[in-house]
Amino acid sequence: MSQIENSGYKGEALRFLKQADCGIGDIIRVTSKGKVYEGILIPRSELGEGTIVIVKMKSGYNVGIKVTKDVKVEKLGKGIKPAFASPPIPKQNPALPHVVIMSTGGTIASRVDYRTGAVRSALSASDLYGVVPELSDVARVDTEIVFSLYSENITQKHWTELAQTVAKRIEQGVDGVVIAHGTDTMAYTSAALSFALQNLPVPVILVGAQRSSDRPSSDAATNLIGAVKAAGEAPFAEVGLAMHETVSDTAIIVHRGTKVRKCHTSRRDTFKSINGFPIAKVKDLQVTMQTDQYQRRDAKKKLVLKPNFCEKVALVKFYPGLDPAIIDFYVEKGIKGILLEGSGLGHVSKFCFDAVKNAVEKGVVVALASQCIWGRVNMNVYDTGRDLLSFGVVPLDDMFPETGLVKLMWVLGQTDDAKKAVKLLKTNIAGEFSPRTLPQEKIVEGGQ
Ligand code: ASP
Repeated sequence: MSQIENSGYKGEALRFLKQADCGIGDIIRVTSKGKVYEGILIPRSELGEGTIVIVKMKSGYNVGIKVTKDVKVEKLGKGIKPAFASPPIPKQNPALPHVVIMSTGGTIASRVDYRTGAVRSALSASDLYGVVPELSDVARVDTEIVFSLYSENITQKHWTELAQTVAKRIEQGVDGVVIAHGTDTMAYTSAALSFALQNLPVPVILVGAQRSSDRPSSDAATNLIGAVKAAGEAPFAEVGLAMHETVSDTAIIVHRGTKVRKCHTSRRDTFKSINGFPIAKVKDLQVTMQTDQYQRRDAKKKLVLKPNFCEKVALVKFYPGLDPAIIDFYVEKGIKGILLEGSGLGHVSKFCFDAVKNAVEKGVVVALASQCIWGRVNMNVYDTGRDLLSFGVVPLDDMFPETGLVKLMWVLGQTDDAKKAVKLLKTNIAGEFSPRTLPQEKIVEGGQ
């Protein structure tokens, strides 16, 4: 039996490969537009477009070939199958908390077969125990693959699906949920889930990795163990994001879902809490709370699910010379919300004023967060800020732009009424507003 069914192929590509009886690892020949490609058929690394077949050529390069009706696919012979062998699942200890690990894709969920070069984006229970056998000492884990996408391909629809899946498992009574996710947009998803999953009885923790789990330098195992430990035992019940605290493997830090941002392209401690503090730390398999300001775990709490997000929301970053026609364009396109990423304390140039005023008059909710990232907007200091306030622009206080954008999408997914939307936007739902700026607040550490 070929492994073609669960290899990421779908649509036309799957039909062609099935017709030619091709399986993953087989040697195939694809003839397209007079060119011949011969090599090993490797899996699709994600469940993306359904018309591309990927062949690993003798040179070692992977070639993606679009299948159309003029393309010919032939099987030349049985090749090496990708070696994704996993050990059996160890015995589960019934005394441990029950944690479900959901996979959405990304580096943390990928495994590479070095002979064929294939990357598989999946995370079954046996894969997981194969990579991180220590998990069986931390929790009773079961797994669920929600989707297999690099996080740059995740959209509002995926947030909705994920929130509904988490809610279902929580209603069934798990002690905690861990979501394996690509790091690129993990903080957007953590903000989205923070708004969508309210009054949580147990923690929901996103986790990623900067290196895939089968590379010696991988951070996947330590991040996962930390996330599972916190999900199963920590006393808080909020959406958190768990990753390395520093570049060393010493501790995993759990950030609040609405206050965290990816700050470095490659470091293991890429995530930082912005305008807030981490919630918890996991070190030597001990969870310690980092603040007393958190929502308590309580199995009796009844989860409130609000999974809808509006897609007609745009982010407009202010920069010197920004053409106001960009704002007009969005308004003409029927956008419902605009998040302005303003400068400093909360400004855009006076040349944009007419466009902003017109947007608000047309019923668009216009909110503003600062591109400074740290600190909070104060639009009463300069005339520019005061003018924007007088047009009806909503200042987002110490929310940084990404959380502000996700909140605007969520708010406009709850109501079409601009007045109600503004009220909800200003309401603290999931710790996205800090009541005051704390003296300990630090500007980025590291960053080299
Ligand atoms: N681009 C990848 C993603 O976000 C990187 C990662 O997994 O960390 O899915």
